[in-house]
Amino acid sequence: MRRSRTTKLLVFALFAGLTALAPASRAGTQSPRAPGAVRYEKAPADTLRVVLLGTAGGPQARFDQFGISTLVEAGDDRLLFDCGRGATLRLAQLGVPMASVDRLFLTHLHSDHIVQVPDLLVAGWASGRVRPLEAWGPAGTRDMMQAFLRAFQFDIRLRRDVDEKIPGDGINVIDHEVTEGTVFERGGLRVTAFLVDHGPVAPVFGYRVDFNGRSVVLSGDTRPSDNLVRHAAGTDVLIHSVIDVAPLRAMGAPEAAIKAIVDHHSTPEQAADVFSRVKPKLAVYSHANASPAILEQTKKGYGGRLQGPEDLLTIDIGSEVTVRRFGP
Ligand SMILES: [Zn+2]
Ligand SMILES: [Zn+2]
Repeated sequence: MRRSRTTKLLVFALFAGLTALAPASRAGTQSPRAPGAVRYEKAPADTLRVVLLGTAGGPQARFDQFGISTLVEAGDDRLLFDCGRGATLRLAQLGVPMASVDRLFLTHLHSDHIVQVPDLLVAGWASGRVRPLEAWGPAGTRDMMQAFLRAFQFDIRLRRDVDEKIPGDGINVIDHEVTEGTVFERGGLRVTAFLVDHGPVAPVFGYRVDFNGRSVVLSGDTRPSDNLVRHAAGTDVLIHSVIDVAPLRAMGAPEAAIKAIVDHHSTPEQAADVFSRVKPKLAVYSHANASPAILEQTKKGYGGRLQGPEDLLTIDIGSEVTVRRFGP
């Protein structure tokens, strides 16, 4: 059915309005509060903020925890680490425009870490991103991003060339296939990639973000990794993945499959050992089942401050490390 011209104009006006509200620059931009949004306030300028957008690992879809994704805010810069299922919905919940997130760092290409990337890529542009989406990740990232562009070429062509005539810059991709070392540096903000050990899945990177003397380390999916311990030295916050075998058993997974999964992740006991070696001000689990059992098992081997996986948990790294939850 063809839209009437009036309806089409109204739709365009609404779209144009939304676009006008979306950022031309990323600094401090917030969307109007959407239904279901939380009362999110920007962090102080000298604070390194980390928001766990989604904390679930693995391919299973669930409502209580969304797929793995972490937002890092440093001054006016926003960085997204992994983009699992629901990441763009969590951004909307915070009132952070998708269009304002144009730097994406991928730990690896397992589907639970990348399944929402096409939404960020295409809808982020269609809702106002004016810069290309810049993506850092392991070998294979370039092919994957180009494949996403091909998959959505119908939508892209229509919006760019035929219908809304949205400028095309924002639907371009700048990709960086990373090796160990500094992969991004701007002002006082630096991102360092380092290899971790996900068994047969390789390469997989962890990332360290440093900003004005504050730092956070994200482990990616890994079994205990000496290289991670080395790169995490002196960090304020260490976010580590962990495997909980209880739900796998409850789902009836065969023991051989459970063994394989456990072999390329970290158990709570192993993560406790890593935390004890790194001694962060705050240890955090993500890519983890939100069960009290993993915390109890971890505490047997680690006496430091520990936070379980919790979507939308917000960690402010300033002169102190504080944890907060934004409410409705
Ligand atoms: Zn994973
Ligand atoms: Zn993985």
